[in-house]
Amino acid sequence: MLIQRGGLKVVAGLGVSGVSAVNFLHEKGYQVAVTDSREVPPGHDQIPATVKTSFGQLDQELLLQAEEIIISPGLDPKIPEILAAIAQGIPVVSEIQILRRATDKAIVAITGSNAKSTVTTLIGLMAKDAGKKVAVGGNLGRPALDLTKDDPELYILELSSFQLETTSNLNADVAVVLNLSEDHLDRHGDMFAYHTAKHRIFQGVKKVVHNRDDSLTRPLVPDATPMQSFGLNAPDLNQYGLLREDDGTMWLSRGRERLIKSSDIYIQGTHNVANALACLALGEAIGLPLDSMLNTLKDFKGLEHRCEFVKEVHGVRYYNDSKGTNIGATLAAIDGLGAAIEPQHAKVAIILGGQGKGQDFTALRNSLQKYVKVAVLIGEDQPIIETALQGTTTLLHAESLKQAVELCQKHTHENDVVLLSPACASFDMFTGYPQRGHRFVEYVNELN
Ligand code: ADP
Repeated sequence: MLIQRGGLKVVAGLGVSGVSAVNFLHEKGYQVAVTDSREVPPGHDQIPATVKTSFGQLDQELLLQAEEIIISPGLDPKIPEILAAIAQGIPVVSEIQILRRATDKAIVAITGSNAKSTVTTLIGLMAKDAGKKVAVGGNLGRPALDLTKDDPELYILELSSFQLETTSNLNADVAVVLNLSEDHLDRHGDMFAYHTAKHRIFQGVKKVVHNRDDSLTRPLVPDATPMQSFGLNAPDLNQYGLLREDDGTMWLSRGRERLIKSSDIYIQGTHNVANALACLALGEAIGLPLDSMLNTLKDFKGLEHRCEFVKEVHGVRYYNDSKGTNIGATLAAIDGLGAAIEPQHAKVAIILGGQGKGQDFTALRNSLQKYVKVAVLIGEDQPIIETALQGTTTLLHAESLKQAVELCQKHTHENDVVLLSPACASFDMFTGYPQRGHRFVEYVNELN
């Protein structure tokens, strides 16, 4: 029997991407409804009054009337209300799926556990500077469906695993999984499921960029699909990598061709060199001229809250890496800064903690032992982190971020570095990583 659902699109979960989905579908003339478990969800006043709303709980009845459900990235598709709809054969898709359906323009698709925003922003600037009419957004900045208003020739999208798990056949012109380390296991269950979600980015892809230092980023795609790699070792012909001189100079290179010295770019740390190489490979895949890309790279100062230098106080340098919300990011920050100050026999004081999202913090042990003189723990998951890190370095506890900053100052000397890179989500103490980062900067500025 044919079920008539009357072509109703139901958006599940409001918030930034939900609002843009509702407005986009409404403007296109679809019958749209929206449901959210919150009584007054954010953005409730930014949708047309004619759209049917059902707030306070996810409206099962409404969901079952849908021809299609557009699920917000913040909602887990495995919750009972959505599973019930799936059981009835109702498709559940992301707003990225709607974008793919709405446009045949080229898409550059970027995901990874870390570096997504940095790479998306930089490749966006490279494309713009090279004269492309480009729209940049997705998980970062503007929601994907809002970008259609710009009528761009090229979309550059940062995509999260949550968006990808309900996106099929993205058919990107070029796609990359920048790196893969544990994150969001509280939602995905295990690394295999997380990996599977991320790799959906390659469905129907025309060209692939992968990280040869991280085999988990390499997709299984047909042999005929062009692939280019980036990595921190010497690159093979036509690949991107690093050539090192005896005096320690590092050149970002394509094959044997030296392109730019790592000391000539603002963004610091080997992880950022990898990010720059990834952008060059992505840019090549969409035909950007190399000279133009190198000029953009030379001017790029990096993003706030990502290993951002704040201030020097009595010879101690303070860095805000509040966006370090998982172990992979924090390892990159400790190793990058730690190695840089090691020759001066200086060390890192780090502020760690918050909501641990089920990660295995023992992965931090080696780097802590090597580079860290004191780790000040904050937030909800202090006990879990303390157990995992016992015996590596001095572990202290702080009741507030302010106190943590003060403890770090007390335990550091000239040439040392103080680093906020919590490896955790911030929602137990802050509205999000930006607030955590801003507070850190504020407390650093108050130090005498
Ligand atoms: P995302 O959007 O994936 O969260 P960001 O560019 O916002 O990525 O950076 C998030 C965190 O990851 C920051 O702490 C940043 O310093 C760190 N980071 C940036 N690039 C890398 C990399 N290549 N590997 C590991 N960590 C990185």
